[in-house]
Amino acid sequence: MMVVQSIEEEVHPELAAFEWLHKTDDKILACRGQGHNWPKLRPNKGRPIKGIRHRGITESQGQVEIIMTCRDCGTDRRVVTAPGGLIDLPAKYTYTHPDGYRAPKGVKITGRQAFAESNRRWLEDVAHSAPAAE
Ligand SMILES: [Zn+2]
Repeated sequence: MMVVQSIEEEVHPELAAFEWLHKTDDKILACRGQGHNWPKLRPNKGRPIKGIRHRGITESQGQVEIIMTCRDCGTDRRVVTAPGGLIDLPAKYTYTHPDGYRAPKGVKITGRQAFAESNRRWLEDVAHSAPAAE
């Protein structure tokens, strides 16, 4: 029996990875290859810190949900504290990513691949911004 596959099913994972790397937003690519840019927990004279939200989730136990938003790509990192408000270390984070952050299903993108593509784009960018040699 002959099996007919759709074009989508025939796309190779390597090609899909190549396409994802070349079309993905600069900031998302930079975070995937070089890490996120999280705001840091610290005292701030009682004022909120940009990119950090929190709310009490159990009034009786004093547990707090803390969400930090990456300054570059917008990924949210969420942690719920132990009773009393302190984070149990190592912290168990959950992440919510912006559209376009995840590669298509079945496509694996390594940090090294993402970094290499950021490096390539950066090099192209600085080459174009360099003053013309006389
Ligand atoms: Zn990020």
